[in-house]
Formats: sequence, C-alpha cells, structure tokens
Amino acid sequence: MQYTVSVSRNLGVVRERIANAALRSGRDPDDVHLVAVSKMFPCEAVVEAWAEGQRDFGENRPEEGLRKIHKLSDFEGDGFVWHMIGHVQSRKARTVLKHYDFLHSLDRMRLAEKLSRLAVEIECEIPVLLECNVSGEASKYGFDLAEWQEDTRVLEAFEGQVEAILKLPGVQVQGLMTMAPIVDDPNDARPVFVSLRGLRDALKTRFPKVTWKHLSMGMTDDFEVAIEEGATMVRIGRAIFGEYS
Ligand SMILES: *Cc1c(COP(=O)(O)O)cnc(C)c1O
Repeated sequence: MQYTVSVSRNLGVVRERIANAALRSGRDPDDVHLVAVSKMFPCEAVVEAWAEGQRDFGENRPEEGLRKIHKLSDFEGDGFVWHMIGHVQSRKARTVLKHYDFLHSLDRMRLAEKLSRLAVEIECEIPVLLECNVSGEASKYGFDLAEWQEDTRVLEAFEGQVEAILKLPGVQVQGLMTMAPIVDDPNDARPVFVSLRGLRDALKTRFPKVTWKHLSMGMTDDFEVAIEEGATMVRIGRAIFGEYS
C-alpha cells in the first residue's frame, strides 16, 4: 500500500500546536520534546520526518521497532534517538538495552532489576521513566498509583520501590510517564496529568537528588492539555503519520 500522508505538513502543524500550548501556559516551547511515534508506519514515513529535523522516534514493540532501526541503518542520515514507549516483556529487556536510547515504560520492579543486571553485563546505561497508572484503568500497565492521593500507604509503598530502583546500577531514572484514558473531551484527561505532576513533586521532595526532569504525557488527542499541565515529552503518532490501518 502506498503511504501518502504529508508528514512534513503534519509535523509543522504539530510543532506549532506544541509551541502555542507551551506559550499560553507560560512555558518555553523548547522544554517540550516531541517523540514522533512511528509504530505501524513504514520507514519512509520516518525518513520524511527526519528530513524535517525530527530525530526522536517512539516504538511500542521492541521487535517491530528493531526491524525499522535495522532497515534505517542503511539510511545516510544519523542522529536518530529511539524511544521504547510500550510494555516490555522481560525477555525483550536485552533488545531494549542494546537498540533503544530511552525507555518510557518501566512499569514494574522485576523489569528494573532485569535491565540493571543486563546493563551491568553489557556495560551500558539506559535512561528510564517510571510508567505510572494514575487513572486506575485496569487495561493500563504501570505501577498502580490510582489511589496515591487518597491513601498514603500507596505512596509510601511506591516510594519504597523507587528507592530500590534508584540503587540499581545501569538504570537512570529521569521522571514519570503515563497514559490518559481515551475521552471525547481532552479536558477530561486533565486530572490524570495533574495527578502525575503531583506525584512527581512528591517524589522530588522525597528524593531530592534525582532531577525528575521528565513528564512523558500527552498523545494525539490530548497533548495540548498535557503540555498545559507540565509535560516535557509528548508522544504523538496519528497527528503526524496518519491513522493506524
Ligand atoms: C501509540 C502510542 C502513542 C501515540 O498515540 P497517538 O494517539 O497515535 O498519538 C503514545 N504513547 C504510547 C505508549 C503509544 O503506544
């Protein structure tokens, strides 16, 4: 099937919307990083975005993304930064460490331990975000933090896990990630973004030596609201590359 979406035009529109959302909430547009989610789209789409200066790309399946990364290794351009944004099975931990630059979806203790063990073995480091399920949707991966504001035990238990993760070599925690529920009005997703930011602030107080610089939140349907609430990374697929087929 022919890929006919105008990635360059879409990218221009998305960049402008990101900048406007940042400016109207008193933020510097440069503080919001766009991760172009290329999952399910062909390499030519990635190359078109690359030609427009896009370097950060997100994939949600380690193997599917790896095929694309391999194909693109023949491509002249460089500077690609590959973000793993989807659930990672333990047996794919090595693939992620070796071929991706950033992990948004560290969603459980065991994965952190496995990544750390392998990182020490292959002598590398990976920046990670802790995926937090703050909405309580059962379908979502991530540390279960739906009740963190109501029940202090939930926060304390999570802080215990975070403390353990921060001690693991090879895994550099840089912030939090979440996925908002699918809603008709993006404003309905706002409480989820506010909650993640509040959680980040709580962790910052508890672990002040960690920068907690990133909040990865916001997708095609809700990224402007996420930026208004402090997103430093937005993960956008459809608005750039077209509908998933
Ligand atoms: C697919 C995906 C996105 C992008 O979603 P769009 O609605 O296409 O912008 C963002 N984050 C994750 C984790 C995804 O799997």
